[in-house]
Amino acid sequence: MSEPRPFPKPQSGLVVPRFGGIATFMRLPYFEDPADVDIGLVGVPWDGGTTNRPGARHGPRQMREMSTLMRRVHHVSGIAPYELARIGDLGDAPVNPASIDDSLKRIEAFYARLHKAGTVPLTAGGDHLVILPILRAIARRRPLGIVHFDAHSDTWDTYFGGHKYTHGTPFRRAIEEDLIDPKRTIQIGIRGSLYGNDDLKWAYDQGIRVVTIEEYFDLGPEKVIAEARRLVGDQPTYVSFDVDGLDPVFAPGTGTPEVGGYSTHEAQRMIRGLRGLDLVGADVVEVSPPFDPGGATALVGVTMMWELMCLLAEGVSRRHNRPRPKVRRR
Ligand code: MN
Ligand code: MN
Repeated sequence: MSEPRPFPKPQSGLVVPRFGGIATFMRLPYFEDPADVDIGLVGVPWDGGTTNRPGARHGPRQMREMSTLMRRVHHVSGIAPYELARIGDLGDAPVNPASIDDSLKRIEAFYARLHKAGTVPLTAGGDHLVILPILRAIARRRPLGIVHFDAHSDTWDTYFGGHKYTHGTPFRRAIEEDLIDPKRTIQIGIRGSLYGNDDLKWAYDQGIRVVTIEEYFDLGPEKVIAEARRLVGDQPTYVSFDVDGLDPVFAPGTGTPEVGGYSTHEAQRMIRGLRGLDLVGADVVEVSPPFDPGGATALVGVTMMWELMCLLAEGVSRRHNRPRPKVRRR
């Protein structure tokens, strides 16, 4: 037996300042082979599913840039993800900006490779349609529970005369394809004007738990998350975080903002509330740098990735029965 390899670590901000060096996610090393890591941070630079204001294709690059502000230990939970799991930047999934069908195939093939290697994906979108090829790669034969943060249900049927693949339709397609279990799906923050009165009817009919923003503010984040935990139970669950679920005061850099959302702090508390679930992947989508000139929304996006990554790392460590490490200051 060879010596176990040390876990990859971000470049220390106490050695090289955090604005220096090459901008990978969280300043981690880049790996080509998903088998080298337990958790793979992946960009999907693609917004071919966008029906309105575009730009999320530029999200991964700006999120890598802003992710250099992250440090190594979670300030509330004390989780030190890089001590618990092998985590690295796996680069970007291949995409074809000129073809939706081809992009869906390429993205799925990329994630199928991860899935085969047993690697847990944490994705930076991209528009929300990127979740569909991800789920096609990781959720066949085991429909997943979903905790979905968003202003929109994304369960519309078709756009523009029968077109089925947009960022407004992925959860409908995923349910039709049996990739997610609607009875173990909760959508948090739903609001905004509708195309018609029955826009949400399909979602309700499937048994999705739709928490409108009005109900969210009536119940409060703790009760909403307690319900999410009950719904998804101890079965495999995926977390999808559309930044437009946040109030645009906190995340203006997105294509389809809707006023009256939750705050960044509330969202962080909600994600932390998912600790201990059987999480098999997560994404943060719809950061659109052209509407985010200062990078503030990208920072929000990678902060949510960091929160999610801490939970994923703890899950990996639990599955591998790894001892809880002591953390030195870096
Ligand atoms: Mn969405
Ligand atoms: Mn949305």
